[in-house]
Amino acid sequence: MQYNYIANAAVPSASGRTIPVIDPSYGEPFDELQRSNAQDIDAAVQAARQCFEAVWHKLSGAERGRLLMRLSLKITEHSDELAAIEQRDCGKPTKQAKADALALARYFEFYAGACDKLHGETIPYQDGYSVFTWYEPHGVTGHIVPWNYPMQIFGRSVGGALAAGNVCVVKPSEDACLSLLRVAQLATEVGFPAGALNIVTGYGHEVGDALARHPGIDHISFTGSPSVGTLIQQVAAERHCPVTLELGGKSPQIVFADADLDTVIPAVVNAIVQNAGQTCSAGARLLVQQEIYEPLLERLGQAFSQLRVGPAAMDLDVGPLIRQTQQQRVWDFLSDAQVANIAMVAQGQIVDEAPETGYYQAPTLLRDVPVNHRLAQEEIFGPVLCAMKFDTEEEAIQLANATPFGLVAGVWTRDGARQFRMAKRVRSGQVFINNYGAGGGVELPFGGVKSSGYGREKGFEALYGFSTLKTVAVKHG
Ligand code: NAD
Repeated sequence: MQYNYIANAAVPSASGRTIPVIDPSYGEPFDELQRSNAQDIDAAVQAARQCFEAVWHKLSGAERGRLLMRLSLKITEHSDELAAIEQRDCGKPTKQAKADALALARYFEFYAGACDKLHGETIPYQDGYSVFTWYEPHGVTGHIVPWNYPMQIFGRSVGGALAAGNVCVVKPSEDACLSLLRVAQLATEVGFPAGALNIVTGYGHEVGDALARHPGIDHISFTGSPSVGTLIQQVAAERHCPVTLELGGKSPQIVFADADLDTVIPAVVNAIVQNAGQTCSAGARLLVQQEIYEPLLERLGQAFSQLRVGPAAMDLDVGPLIRQTQQQRVWDFLSDAQVANIAMVAQGQIVDEAPETGYYQAPTLLRDVPVNHRLAQEEIFGPVLCAMKFDTEEEAIQLANATPFGLVAGVWTRDGARQFRMAKRVRSGQVFINNYGAGGGVELPFGGVKSSGYGREKGFEALYGFSTLKTVAVKHG
C-alpha cells in the first residue's frame, strides 16, 4: 500500500479510499494508492506553509543548494531501485527507466548549483535614489505532473521551484506515482525539513482540482493535456494565481533533400518511438522534401519493421502504452487512417512474449497524411509517425506551423542560411538543427507557444518563472 507523503511522513488519505496501481506490461494490479481529496491537499498546503515560514525561507541559497545536491547524490545511489519502480508502474523499458532516474538526479544537481545564483540588478535612477530588484519565491508552489515522464517532469519542475526558494505540494498522475513517493522518502533521508516537499495522490478531477483551487497555493506548474491545462488556467484565474503550462505537441521533423539521411533516420525513429510515442515533444510529423520522399520512406519503413515491442523488463525498442484507454485512443486514430485510405508504410512487431492483457501497440509509419486530417493535427500520444511531403522551403514552414501546437521542431539540412531562416520562422519553443532533443538537455529552457502552453521550465530560465521580482527604491537624498 502506498501513502501520501506530507511533512516527512507517510499518511493515509482522509477518504480512506484507494486506487489500484496497474502494471501496463501485464494489465494487472500490483499495489494501491491513496485516493485523496481536498482535505489531504489542505493538510499538505498547511505543512508546506509552516515549513516555508519557519525554516525554508531562512535558509541561504547555498544551504538549499547543499540539500538539493545531497538529494541528487541519493537519487543516483538509488537509481536502479527508482528505475525498477518506474518500469513496473509505467511500463518503461529498462534503458529508458534508468535514463529517467539519472535525469532526475541531474535536475537536482543542476538546480543545486543554481540556488545561490539568482540575483537582481541595480537600476540607475534619479539623484537621491538607490533602486534595486531582487527575486523572491512565490511561497508554496503546486505541481501537477503527468504519467509519461514522472521522474523527469518532477525533477525539472520541483527542482526549479525549490531552487528559487519555494516549498512544494505535488500531485502526480494517478497512473504514475510510485517513484515520486520514493523520492520524497529519500529527500527526508538527506535532511529536507518537514513540509518542504509533499506528495498527495489521487484523481485529477478530485485532488488535482483541489490543489489548483487552494488559496494557499501561490503558483501552479501544470504539465499535461491542453484540455486540462484550460481548466487549470480558468480555476487559477479566479484568484489570479500565476500558472506555468507545459502542454501537448505535434512536433515536426523537417527533412530537406540535402540532409544527411544516415543521421536523420535513427533520430526520426527514436523521436517517435521513445517511451512508445508518449512524449510531449515526440517528433510526430515527418515533413520531407519531395526529391527524397520515396527513398527516405523506404529506408524508414525498413527501420520501423525491425522495431520490437514487448514487456518493459525485456528492454526492447518499445514497451507498452500506459493504460487500456490510451491503447484504445491509438487504435481509434489508426482506424480513422483506414477510413480515410491513408496508407501504412510499415509497422514494427509485437513479440510473442507480450501478454494479450498488456497495452501494446506496434510502431506505425503512415504516408501522405493530409495536413487537415486529425492524424496530422491532434496528439496521438502513441508510436505513430505521419509523413507528408513538401516542395519549397516556404511550403515546409507553412506545414510546420499548420497545427495548434508549437513545442519543438527538428530541421535537417546542410544549408547554413536555411538553418537560420527555418529556426526563425518555425513557431515553437525549441528548434533543433541537425539533431532532435539534444539528448534531453536539463540546461535548455523548455516550453511551448500556442496550445503547447507558456512559461519555461528547465535551465536557469525556470527560476524566473518560479519567483517574483520585487523593486525596492530607497530615497536617501
Ligand atoms: P492529463 O492532462 O490527463 O493529466 C495531467 C495531470 O493533471 C495528472 O496528474 C492528472 O491527474 C491531472 N488532472 C486531470 N484532470 C484534472 C483537473 N480537472 N484538475 C486538476 N488536475 C487534473 O495529461 P496526461 O494524460 O497525464 O499526460 C499527457 C499529456 O501531457 C499530453 O498532452 C502531453 O503532451 C502532455 N505533456 C506535456 C509536457 C510538456 O512539457 N509540454 C510533458 C509531458 C506531457
